[in-house]
Amino acid sequence: MGDVDLDTLQRWLRTFAASVAEQRDALTALDAAIGDADHGANMHRGMTAVVEGLDATPASDPAALFKQAGMTLVKSVGGASGPLYGTLFLRMAPATGGAATLDPETFAKALRAGLEGVVARGKAEPGDKTMVDALTPALDALDAALASGRSPAEALRAASAAADEGRDATTPMVARKGRASYLGERSAGHQDPGATSAALLVAAAATAVAEQEGA
Ligand code: ADP
Ligand code: MG
Repeated sequence: MGDVDLDTLQRWLRTFAASVAEQRDALTALDAAIGDADHGANMHRGMTAVVEGLDATPASDPAALFKQAGMTLVKSVGGASGPLYGTLFLRMAPATGGAATLDPETFAKALRAGLEGVVARGKAEPGDKTMVDALTPALDALDAALASGRSPAEALRAASAAADEGRDATTPMVARKGRASYLGERSAGHQDPGATSAALLVAAAATAVAEQEGA
């Protein structure tokens, strides 16, 4: 297949919103263990607002879509995750170069720029038990799969599997960023909520692109 089109990118965000709605209580339960029990509510509020924004004002190109989603998340979510996910999308926007559709490498580059924004804003490194622990292996797997000639849907499936592994690997970690870090060693033994929602984000991209490919 060719490029990832605007419809697919919109479907990505809508699919992510639906997954977050479905997993809201599970995300909140994870945050109850090592945070303040609001991650599900935060993400659900934010992504509901994003979808309402798309319904009201459909974006004209990928950059506009990402900018709109990012600004909505920053505005509508009070927790740490709102500005971080917001930054991810806001940084993706210019990385599209204003293209009407995204070739797979540009989509991967935009995601990478988004992750770099999250790291610049939150200062988390891999191993700190955050969303970065799901996103980093996912984007590494995406780059590797595209470089070896896999289709975008296959590459995103590989990225989604890597995100899931990265999410699972947060369980034994001791948190060094965010609220969970206040618990110190007691944060070990619990899966990180933000890594869990980040894995849903990558899975939603794999689903949306597979639908475009008809896979
Ligand atoms: P809050 O911690 O403000 O209540 P949420 O509960 O919505 O916000 O989100 C918590 C998640 O945010 C954590 O599980 C973690 O993955 C992520 N997070 C928190 N701080 C950082 C950070 N500095 N960098 C990256 N991710 C972070
Ligand atoms: Mg919280």
